[in-house]
Amino acid sequence: MESNDILITGARVWESHHDSIGSRALPLRIRNGRILAVGSDALAMGRVPATIDLPGRFLVPGLIDAHVHLELDPGLSTPAEQLAVAPSERRRAMAARARAMLERGITTARDCGGGFYHEHDLRSLIDAGDQLGPRLVCCGQPLTIPEGHCAFWGGVISSPAEIERVVARQVERGSDWIKVMATGGVFTPGSRPRDTQFDADALAAIVAAARREGRPVAAHCHGTAGIAAALRAGVRTIEHASFAGMDGFGTQLDEGLMRELAEREVWVSPTVNAGWLGRMSDATGGPSDFYRRLSSCLRLQRSHGVRFIASSDAGIPGVFHHDLALGLQAMQAYAELRPVEVLRAATVDAAEALGLGQETGRIAVGLSADLVVLRADPTLALEALVDPEAVVFRGRFVRR
Ligand SMILES: [Zn+2]
Repeated sequence: MESNDILITGARVWESHHDSIGSRALPLRIRNGRILAVGSDALAMGRVPATIDLPGRFLVPGLIDAHVHLELDPGLSTPAEQLAVAPSERRRAMAARARAMLERGITTARDCGGGFYHEHDLRSLIDAGDQLGPRLVCCGQPLTIPEGHCAFWGGVISSPAEIERVVARQVERGSDWIKVMATGGVFTPGSRPRDTQFDADALAAIVAAARREGRPVAAHCHGTAGIAAALRAGVRTIEHASFAGMDGFGTQLDEGLMRELAEREVWVSPTVNAGWLGRMSDATGGPSDFYRRLSSCLRLQRSHGVRFIASSDAGIPGVFHHDLALGLQAMQAYAELRPVEVLRAATVDAAEALGLGQETGRIAVGLSADLVVLRADPTLALEALVDPEAVVFRGRFVRR
């Protein structure tokens, strides 16, 4: 990797414990991919080979999408079409998606599952500097039941005796996390989101097997019963958490369970995507049914202190991998958050949830130099995040 030693001047820097960005520019010194100093210290560290002046610009940490599927083509609508993509074309498309994500300011992403472990190879290429893309955290094949949600990816568990083996296979292939489909899902024909897929004992055994391998667990949960079971089994993140009941998403809200989510400090990754912005009103111009249900679901969780991280579920039909910033606007609108709260969910909080709090997610000394350079202040309006002027990943400018 090229040596880098850069002084950035003139930009206003968001420090994640602050609700707003200070009016004074803060210099930043970067060396060998890491943040060496922030503030006046940065000017007192000897000769600088390169100074980059960014007057009037705003710096925030690189964004984190806690739930994507690099393998999935958002232009295809069924699992059968996804599986029909030739392996060479799939690899090429995944590399292009990763690059587009980075260019839009996403410097870290957790891949929440695929069938072929291609994203693991991509992770290695990115880490070696041979490919542009975000730092990847990979789950491998999601654990599921026969004919269950995403069973076509191969992580099928037919009996409790198989749990150990299927978890071990993900670990052997280099997975950082274990993903379990605790309920059914939308994408798989014949699967219903509200149905639980594993009982409490099986979920506990999955979490225990993952823990023995040092892997945290992410649980896909739509139905309320599945959320409760996964939470009590000890998973680290709950994906979707849509509190689905007989009448669909957000129709079985359980405030006791929301309080438990908050008390146990589990992270909720609500996978709010850009498409939600277009679903806020119905034909008459009033709030849509979808908006009312999902907004109250998120607002109620929030009111009970549930901790959110930003995620998009990119790869599912119509949800593009590089569109996290648009999804953040939807998250703000549905959950009625302030821009800075959403910004935290997409940076410092997501890093902590993913176990990367000492690596990325903040502009602080010692952390990876993962930065987004913006023309406007995102703590005032999240629109500022949509089209970054530049992106710095591991100390290298990848877009200017
Ligand atoms: Zn997903």
